Amino acid sequence: MSEIQTRRAALAGGAGLLGATGLLTPNLLARAAEGEMKTGGPILKSLAAAVNKEGEYTLPPLPYDYDALEPSIDAETMKLHHDKHHLAYVKGANEALSKLSDVRSGKIEPTAVTDLTEKLAFNLSGHILHSIFWADLGPKKGGAPEGALASDIDKQFGSFEKFKAHFSAASTQVQGNGWGVLAYEPIARKLLVLQARNHQMNVAWTAIPLLVLDVWEHAYYLKYKNVRADYVKAFYDAIHWAAVDQWYAFIKKTHGHDA
Ligand code: MN
Repeated sequence: MSEIQTRRAALAGGAGLLGATGLLTPNLLARAAEGEMKTGGPILKSLAAAVNKEGEYTLPPLPYDYDALEPSIDAETMKLHHDKHHLAYVKGANEALSKLSDVRSGKIEPTAVTDLTEKLAFNLSGHILHSIFWADLGPKKGGAPEGALASDIDKQFGSFEKFKAHFSAASTQVQGNGWGVLAYEPIARKLLVLQARNHQMNVAWTAIPLLVLDVWEHAYYLKYKNVRADYVKAFYDAIHWAAVDQWYAFIKKTHGHDA
């Protein structure tokens, strides 16, 4: 099934509507943009650029050159992925919101609400996950987790190697298009490894994405063809762990969960 077919099937097939990012409130981003929060790092910066002052979603710039992640991810894939695929999610989210407004004003029949709401969940989740994904990565990175994230990974998963095996299995095994996700669940204050199908399905409410791995074919097929496992392996050489740790610290702080 092509991505477009998968997307149509998801939109037509009663896809789940759970948003991965319900706790990323405009207030949080506004505070970040105003510079009140000193932490957050590249991921918060990317998310702050994912919406404008009018509340419209916008495409954040890649925080490095297209070829900066080579050899893990090739330049052509990065250009298409960011400039075309991610942009389509930005437009799709704005369009769904605009049409839902038209439903409220009577220009569109209320029977469109289900389709439009699914379109919103799909595109907005895609937009936010990609905005986090770019900033999760960086040139000449890789290595091991840093800071409080490193010790919490050790405590909660046993070791970095055990986490890596779990996260790799989750990412490699996603059926069809989706994501491997390391998330913070602020109710129990746990780190979770999740799988998202497409962008918005199979998601656990409250979980906030920290480290996300796009395993849609558009993310790797030009270089890795059908061998997703090799792409998953190469991903670890591009992870910007300091950025993930800064984002983790910011999320915990906004929930009053300082260590
Ligand atoms: Mn993608």
